[in-house]
Amino acid sequence: MTTQNTPVSLTGENIHLSFGTNKVLRGVDIHVDAGKTTTVIGPSGSGKSTLLRALNRLHEPEQGDILIDGKSVLKDNPDKLRQRIGMVFQHFNLFPHKTVADNVALGPRKLQGLSKDAARALAVEQLEAVGLGAKADSRPGNLSGGQQQRVAIARALAMKPEIMFFDEATSALDPELVKGVLSLMADLASGGMSMIVVTHEMGFARSVSDTVVFMDHGQVVETGPPSALFENAETDRLRQFLAQVL
Ligand code: ADP
Ligand code: MG
Repeated sequence: MTTQNTPVSLTGENIHLSFGTNKVLRGVDIHVDAGKTTTVIGPSGSGKSTLLRALNRLHEPEQGDILIDGKSVLKDNPDKLRQRIGMVFQHFNLFPHKTVADNVALGPRKLQGLSKDAARALAVEQLEAVGLGAKADSRPGNLSGGQQQRVAIARALAMKPEIMFFDEATSALDPELVKGVLSLMADLASGGMSMIVVTHEMGFARSVSDTVVFMDHGQVVETGPPSALFENAETDRLRQFLAQVL
């Protein structure tokens, strides 16, 4: 088994970010403990994706701080920061003309300087870990959407991230394929990965998260353990949101 990096804690403090005059993040605080899962829920357009992009500095926050294990990373090289964070998006963006194993091996080869053989061995191992060892030499187009998303997760894990971000990883999948991806994410969480998960899957948020963050209009409206948010919502905004999605 290859060694995984030690999971880290991550904190976003008072994150502000605008696109032109549109203030998309208006002082967001978010935290995930090392080895725990924080889930972000909220209506479309509330700033969830932008928050993930601010936390890995794809969009630089205008104000606020980002800390890993309590230490600010704002002065670090952003590319170095992004190598510490595994990202999984709604659209998996695998290279269609490369094999599944080559897709997974690409990052370790190009960014971590692994030899072709070592990167291949790592890719096959990560594919086995997500239940797709037998698909190593297939093209992505011959896999189901759920399998492709598991490849995308293997691709992120091959980089030995210290924390994983998921942005609506199951939203583009046919309903019967959602479960396999969610159960892989739940396995990662119970295996001690640090994760920030943006999702509309309330069952996952409720059963897997340690902390839930409810966002609306670029602000955190409520945050706490799942039982508090799902059973004892304090605000009308959260109650209305839950009434719509549950
Ligand atoms: P969510 O993920 O919660 O649906 P987003 O973070 O995608 O919300 O979007 C929040 C707001 O930011 C929306 O008003 C959206 O139009 C705006 N926005 C997001 N990304 C960009 C961008 N790259 N340029 C301009 N506006 C953007
Ligand atoms: Mg989004």
